[in-house]
Amino acid sequence: MFEKILIANRGEIALRVQRACRELGIKTVAVYSEADREAKYVKLADESVCIGPAPSAKSYLNIPAVISAAEVTDAQAIHPGYGFLSENADFAERVEQSGFVFIGPRAETIRLMGDKVSAKDAMKKAGVPCVPGSDGALPDDSSEILKIAKRVGYPVIIKAAGGGGGRGMRVVHTEAALVNAVNMTKAEAQAAFGNPMVYMEKFLENPRHIEIQVLADQHGNAVFLGDRDCSMQRRHQKIIEEAPSPLLLPRLRDKIGERCADACRRIKYRGAGTFEFLYENGEFYFIEMNTRLQVEHTVTEMITGIDLVQQQIFVAAGEKLKFRQKDIQLNGHAIECRINAEDPANFVPSPGMINRFHMAGGPGVRIDTHAYGGYTVPPHYDSMIGKLITHGDTRDQAIARMRIALSEMFVEGIKTNIPLHADLMADAAFHQGGTSIHYLEQKLGIHK
Ligand code: ADP
Repeated sequence: MFEKILIANRGEIALRVQRACRELGIKTVAVYSEADREAKYVKLADESVCIGPAPSAKSYLNIPAVISAAEVTDAQAIHPGYGFLSENADFAERVEQSGFVFIGPRAETIRLMGDKVSAKDAMKKAGVPCVPGSDGALPDDSSEILKIAKRVGYPVIIKAAGGGGGRGMRVVHTEAALVNAVNMTKAEAQAAFGNPMVYMEKFLENPRHIEIQVLADQHGNAVFLGDRDCSMQRRHQKIIEEAPSPLLLPRLRDKIGERCADACRRIKYRGAGTFEFLYENGEFYFIEMNTRLQVEHTVTEMITGIDLVQQQIFVAAGEKLKFRQKDIQLNGHAIECRINAEDPANFVPSPGMINRFHMAGGPGVRIDTHAYGGYTVPPHYDSMIGKLITHGDTRDQAIARMRIALSEMFVEGIKTNIPLHADLMADAAFHQGGTSIHYLEQKLGIHK
């Protein structure tokens, strides 16, 4: 087992990984930008190294700086968290070439899945059902593009092969708007991701976002750890996640889960990963694979009792999975609300000093946050300051506990989306078993 791990991230996930390491008796190295110098988790780490100024391009995305930090502290492995360098194949490669273990899949797997066109192709070959659409990237010829859309059927969605984080997508409803939309998405994709390649999918009008958590070791074993429903989204970004999906019958979950575990064996997947699907009328459609730990891994941990970060570490150290599929039991229901430092009405980020901070508590409540009273939320990074997670024997109990927890929690000095979450926990459609991915935007539109 490793003696020392460097955590190449910040915020709540840096603290989450640190906790997993400390429980295993592994020493931790925190890296931080000048903006995060005073953060408590940085001081809690066994060692810490400043890797640059506040802008992430100069610090958390600075590959040589992260690798030098591992060198000077003699860390053996690097955990990338989520975001930043976590799905950067070049980083994974450089980490291993420099003699450290990358806690994640092999660089070639990250590369395969990082390009959504090659990922879809690989999944089709592995027998995973995909959204109908273009066969690979769209050609340049406009008449060919029009033909493909005719075959797929409107509305269609044009997506960047290199896209991520809900960006690089455009919905097209009519033939007249198609060619222009494709060209605009290409130009944006080139500017944002350095790759102009785009592809087309049928735009599903009423789907749920359901994903399968997988875990695979380096010895050919792979299991799935149930599913998560992340349909409550705004601008293609999740804000509430739950496990299991209230919609999915166990038989269907097992069927799609087994497909995913099987795909992991085929592509020799290593570590934790997520297969993301849209689900409509009883059918699953693969949209992408995330080759890292996800923000919402917590709800899976709550219903399986398995610490996913520790499992990632065991796999990276070369250990075999200690459980088989039949050992994995799903207990009760878990919900996560992402707490963002933002105005709940218009979503404008609200960084600044938290004057007073009170955490919720009680049975079945978990809070993953690096924030505290006196902490200043820097303006340079993602606005998520923590995650409130509740667990119950039933979905109703998890919701009831979430409502209480949200009412107990207060954060003063900055604005947060806690009022929006409180509103959603009382929403009739959410109560009745959840909503489609377009529901929240429709609801917010009506509210305006
Ligand atoms: P990203 O990598 O940016 O997260 P995804 O491919 O995972 O992109 O899609 C993110 C979200 O965009 C989905 O959860 C869904 O809300 C929406 N979306 C993507 N593809 C489709 C589609 N074919 N039809 C309808 N909505 C879609």
